[in-house]
Amino acid sequence: MSGAKRLLSGMRATGDGRLHIGNYEGALRNWVDLQDQGHQVFAMVADWHVLTTAEPGRNLAATSREIAKDFVAAGLDPERTVVFRQSDVKEHAELTLLFGMMTGIGKLERNPTYKDMVQDIGGAERATYGLLGYPVLQAADILLYRPYGVPVGRDQAPHLELGREIARTFNSRYGEVFPEFASIIPEDESRAKVPGLDADAEGRLRKMSKSYDNCIYLAESDEETAARIKSAFTTPSKMRKTDPGIPEGCAVCQMLRIYSPDWQNQWQEDRDGIRGCMQNKKELTEALNAHLRPFRERRAELTDERIEAILQDGASRARAVASETMDEVRRAMLLV
Ligand code: ATP
Ligand code: MG
Repeated sequence: MSGAKRLLSGMRATGDGRLHIGNYEGALRNWVDLQDQGHQVFAMVADWHVLTTAEPGRNLAATSREIAKDFVAAGLDPERTVVFRQSDVKEHAELTLLFGMMTGIGKLERNPTYKDMVQDIGGAERATYGLLGYPVLQAADILLYRPYGVPVGRDQAPHLELGREIARTFNSRYGEVFPEFASIIPEDESRAKVPGLDADAEGRLRKMSKSYDNCIYLAESDEETAARIKSAFTTPSKMRKTDPGIPEGCAVCQMLRIYSPDWQNQWQEDRDGIRGCMQNKKELTEALNAHLRPFRERRAELTDERIEAILQDGASRARAVASETMDEVRRAMLLV
């Protein structure tokens, strides 16, 4: 990318608000790299998005602060990068409402994530308007900042495409307000979709996700990471060290690929039955805890007060851009 570009991305404040290594490898690590290359990054904590799936009674203000701590501890510099909370910038709600007027229901119903969720909760009767419309909210989140690109993990690609379609519809009806944006996804597939520690009913790895409870969290202790890796899914037919492993289908081998410089050798030994799953787990635990140590130290020093001040400052900088876009949108739609 030549010249300083504007980028926007976000994370849902789900679970207890801690990010996992999938969030980091798939997205956050790119945000930090892009910031360090001189680009203007808008890093959003998506708290309203949590309400599409969460039960009531959750302390979203607290989980949002935890996410923002992970952002800063991972290397986002709040002086250069705008770290903000979605619900602090009301323009997100206004643009969502207007985009809702130009988004077909059929398109939203065909969204594969929505279809999966409907199945999980037991039918469309139980789904809310908010869940169906969450790609519209996501489109508004992005387009308010008219970014050059959106750095995300592979799972977000279909939603970003929907966002682009909404922008095209707007532009064709009301004039060119929203330039096309790029998806920025890690080229390395093991980072674009980091597998979780478990497998699905068919024994296939699935994405690491806050809502699947199959994560290694950036902000947990060394001991917690060790315990999680100990229980991780490995080649089911590899009962003894000498049985051949299948690293492509083993959660531990997949993570060694990201964190161990020696992974190719480790994979070969796993296949050849020269090394066992215990050794893989031990070496992964050491590599990962060493990798996360500086992050964990920085995070422990961030107080709620400091992070709240960062979020307030970020909100006012985000609002400045968002309100400019909304002025143009209202003019284009002849609302003013
Ligand atoms: P939830 O289960 O609540 O949806 P999540 O773990 O999927 O949580 P999100 O907040 O939805 O996390 O995603 C934040 C960012 O992290 C997105 O850019 C997404 O693509 C990326 N991401 C999430 N999980 C992974 C993963 N396993 N590998 C790579 N990137 C990921
Ligand atoms: Mg997700």
